[in-house]
Amino acid sequence: MSLDTPAPSTPAITEARRQAEICNACRYCEGFCAVFPAMFDKRLFANGDITQLANLCHNCRGCYYSCQYTSPHEFELNLPKALAEVQVESWDRFAWPRGISAAVQSNGLAIAAVLVLGIAALFFAQSTLSPDGGEGFYAVLAHSVMTAIFMPAFLFPLAVLAIGLRRYWHETDGRPVKFRHLREAAMNAAKMRNLSGGQEQGCNYEKGDRYSQARRYAHQATMWGFLLCFAATVSGTVMHYGFALHAPYSLISLPKILGVPGGVLLTLGTVKLAWLKTRADSNLGAGTTRGGEMAFVFLLGLTGASGLALYASTGTTLVPSLMGLHLGAVLALFLLTPYSKMAHGFYRLAALVRDAQRRSAKTD
Ligand code: SF4
Ligand code: SF4
Repeated sequence: MSLDTPAPSTPAITEARRQAEICNACRYCEGFCAVFPAMFDKRLFANGDITQLANLCHNCRGCYYSCQYTSPHEFELNLPKALAEVQVESWDRFAWPRGISAAVQSNGLAIAAVLVLGIAALFFAQSTLSPDGGEGFYAVLAHSVMTAIFMPAFLFPLAVLAIGLRRYWHETDGRPVKFRHLREAAMNAAKMRNLSGGQEQGCNYEKGDRYSQARRYAHQATMWGFLLCFAATVSGTVMHYGFALHAPYSLISLPKILGVPGGVLLTLGTVKLAWLKTRADSNLGAGTTRGGEMAFVFLLGLTGASGLALYASTGTTLVPSLMGLHLGAVLALFLLTPYSKMAHGFYRLAALVRDAQRRSAKTD
């Protein structure tokens, strides 16, 4: 099996190329985000160039509300939508096996089904593989059983993502990565600079032609919340295997110092993101992904909220039920990572690294 995927000419890429060529002549939006400087560096757009522009775009909609060529103008510019459609299509092309991402992105029920199956699997494991001894959470589900379930559920999505990123890099003509490219990309992602509107005025996601910082802050809360929760899990694993310190942990311990604020940020960030999605114009995003995106945001929020509830219930009879709910949500989240909106974080980072290479090639 070849890992390399040639960028195909699809209707979405053809339409985005048409719009990019108009923007290239106009150039009004140059300072809005990273998409336009990258676009204005080119005269002709290969399919891979369009894939790269699409994955740089945050769908902030600033360019749409500033554009003099939107409908009813005959050019019918709608760059946020055109790039969002290329983006979603590219994630399906990169993920292995092909077709799952398209189904998950366009169908909230697919995510709900995986969530229900994940929760059912955890309740089944708890009821049939209940340990003879163990303390705290491990009295409900043995550590060895948890490891047997979560290790493959963690490693398989990582392998699929590695294949996808390899394909992305090939399609966008990526070069050898240097530390400074990674540093620039990480700084841009950490600050979500491309959601600033170019002058720190914010974006136009939910307020039409007025600016707002709400999506940037909600997105940051969600991203940092997730990363803190992940760091909490890693620290718990190190404490378990490296220092024989087993869960449950006290509030003054690394897993809790990282995990509790992480869970709060993740829960609040996703609630706000879901609310913003209900306010945004669905005609400025990819046509078919609204249900899948909402279901994914719900899954992320459920992961954060159920983790907090599980911690709060320590020592009570609610632990088995909340553990099944929380671990089932985590299992679904892991398994869906390469196929759901979660994949955008990895491809966005790859696009930012590729963009850092483009900028450094101009100055080297
Ligand atoms: S989105 Fe409209 S205003 Fe902005 S560069 Fe393109 S054509 Fe010009
Ligand atoms: S929607 Fe926002 S991020 Fe995307 S191209 Fe337009 S201004 Fe840039």
